[in-house]
Amino acid sequence: MFALTFLGTSASVPSAERNHPALLVEAAGKRILIDCGEGTQRQLLRSGAGFRRLDRILLTHAHLDHVLGIPGLFSTLGLRQSADVMTIHAGPGTLDIVAGMLAGLWGAGRAPIAVAFAPLAEGSVIDAGEFTIDCFPVRHRDTDSFGFVLQSPARRHLLSDRLAALGVPDGPMRGELAAGRPLVIAGRTINPEDVLGPPDGGKKLVVVGDTETTDGLSRHVADADMLVIEATFLDRDADTARNYGHLTAAEAAALAVAGNVGQLVLTHMSGRYQDDEILAEATRIFPKTRIATDFDHIVI
Ligand SMILES: [Zn+2]
Ligand SMILES: [Zn+2]
Repeated sequence: MFALTFLGTSASVPSAERNHPALLVEAAGKRILIDCGEGTQRQLLRSGAGFRRLDRILLTHAHLDHVLGIPGLFSTLGLRQSADVMTIHAGPGTLDIVAGMLAGLWGAGRAPIAVAFAPLAEGSVIDAGEFTIDCFPVRHRDTDSFGFVLQSPARRHLLSDRLAALGVPDGPMRGELAAGRPLVIAGRTINPEDVLGPPDGGKKLVVVGDTETTDGLSRHVADADMLVIEATFLDRDADTARNYGHLTAAEAAALAVAGNVGQLVLTHMSGRYQDDEILAEATRIFPKTRIATDFDHIVI
C-alpha cells in the first residue's frame, strides 16, 4: 500500500492554488519525499503530514522548481534538532547542484542537519523489505533526470478452512507454512501450496517528473497501478512543449495506454490552461485520468 500526498502540483511558476512540485509517499511506516520545491516545508505543515520520520528525499532532477525547498526544510529540521540523517537520492549531476547550493549557504558539509548523498544509477534504489524503489533514466533537457518505481510485493495469505481441514494447529506451524516451508504432521507432509491463497495486494507506483519524451518509458510504467507524471502542455502547444522539454497531456495519456496502467495522475500544471482542458485532452485517450491538486491524498 502506498499513500500519496501531493504537496505541490504546479509547473515552474506557482499559482495561488498550486505550490512548486513535491510529493510525499508513505509506505510501511516510512515516509519519502519526491522533489522538494520552494515552500515544501509549509506544504508539509498545511497537509497535516508534518516533519516526523522524514529522512529520505528522491529528486527527479535539479531544476529550481524541484529543489529550492531543500535549504528551508533543512534549516527548520536543524532548528528542531532532528537527529536523523537525511539521505538525498538523485542523479550525480543533480547531487552536485544540491551539494553546491547547501555549501554556498552554510559551507561544505556544514548543512544544519546531517545529509547523505546517494547517487542514482538505473536499477535498485532501496529495498525496504515491505517495498522496493527502483529508478530509471528520463530525458529532460540538459539534466540527469530519473523516474521512480515503487513496488510492494503481493502476499499470499493462509486459508483458514484448509488449515482446519488438514489439522494444522494455531501457532508456529502456521507461521512455517506462511513462510513457504512444508510441515509434517502425523506423518503427512503439508505443502505451503496446500494452504495458501492466490497472490494479493501487490502494488506498483511509478512517478516521473519532467520529461521531454515518453520514448522508452512504457516498459518502466508497465502494469503500474498508478502513474504520476507531468503534463505541462496541451497538444495544441506541442511545439512549445518540445522546446521546453515537457510533455503534453495527450502524450502522457498515450503512455498510460501503452503501459496498461490502472490510473493516471497528471501534475506539473501550467497556469496557461484550465484543468478541464487538460483533463478533456487526456481522458479522450485514457479515461482513468485525474489532475492532481495540492493536498490531494490518494491511497493505492
Ligand atoms: Zn519542473
Ligand atoms: Zn525541469
